[in-house]
Amino acid sequence: MKELKIDVTLSTEKKQKPSFDNLEFGKHFTDHMFIWNYTEGKGWHDARIIPYQPIMLDPAATVFHYGQTVFEGMKAYLTKDEQVLLFRPEENMKRLNRSNDRLCMPKLDEEGALSALKQLIQIDRDWIPSGEGTSLYIRPFMIATEAFLGVHPAKTYQFIIILSPVGAYYKEGINPVKIAVESEYVRAVAGGTGNAKTAGNYAASLKASEIAEQNGYSQVLWLDGRENQYIEEVGSMNVFFKINGEVITPELNGSILEGITRKSIIELLNYMNIPLVERRISIHEIQQAYQDGVLEEAFGTGTAAVISPIGELLWKNEKMVVNNGEIGSLSQQLYDTLTGIQNGTKEDPFGWSARI
Ligand SMILES: *Cc1c(COP(=O)(O)O)cnc(C)c1O
Repeated sequence: MKELKIDVTLSTEKKQKPSFDNLEFGKHFTDHMFIWNYTEGKGWHDARIIPYQPIMLDPAATVFHYGQTVFEGMKAYLTKDEQVLLFRPEENMKRLNRSNDRLCMPKLDEEGALSALKQLIQIDRDWIPSGEGTSLYIRPFMIATEAFLGVHPAKTYQFIIILSPVGAYYKEGINPVKIAVESEYVRAVAGGTGNAKTAGNYAASLKASEIAEQNGYSQVLWLDGRENQYIEEVGSMNVFFKINGEVITPELNGSILEGITRKSIIELLNYMNIPLVERRISIHEIQQAYQDGVLEEAFGTGTAAVISPIGELLWKNEKMVVNNGEIGSLSQQLYDTLTGIQNGTKEDPFGWSARI
């Protein structure tokens, strides 16, 4: 892989590190950050690693007004023998460029961005926690920086990478969550930006999540924006159901985010010879399966939690308790296998782990 030439300015004062025993998600950031500028007609320039600091932007920058921005989320793990592993990082860079395309943002040199990420992690390597379930969360993102109030793609951008040490998602073991099926608000519609990792989707999702939380549910299950009956995602995770021995996940339809954990779980299920289908599935079908006693397991998938079992689904006034509110054996097995591959404690027959 070609190495990106980066100008490095090291921080003179190292930050006080938080205790790695009880890290909150996304709260602490490492000593350095990566920035790469883009100017129309010139391309990407001024790749640099600098001390972590606020960025200065013109108040008229496009990102503030029209949300022209995309992001990614991935993790680095420290193995027992002090190796640093990334999980399928090239998939994140590819997806970033798909999001860029949807938002009319410039294409990123994927190899260059990956090289920058690796150099940044090397510099802040002592920020990678080593405890069970911990990792270094990586947030690459791109913002439109041109000072111009016209609704038009900007001519200048910044690509930035920041790093944050994170703790085990489940402090007291992996715990099923209660999910409310959302029947008023929608996350995305066909033809919209649902399959791009762009800020507006998350801003639009906050209201429903807030109401669900007030009612004692940790997230919402999103239905499609047209007929309000087909299942899309759960919170900001993809979703899987095990019904009568078969695993079903909604097919990619343009409004669902194409999760890398989703893709990996599908490949893992195929490898394990467990029946898996990607197809449209309605909430009525879930309700019927529940009433017939064949809704065996349900879980969300995403980088942050990896697998998040669903213990209860609330649809209108019906509470559907899945697997007695306990984690199912398949969910547990998938969680153990995938996290084992990610942190280097299990064999990786797929070549998913990339050593830095
Ligand atoms: C990031 C994200 C996911 C999960 O993607 P992973 O690549 O598995 O982390 C699912 N849904 C939404 C809306 C997301 O933003």
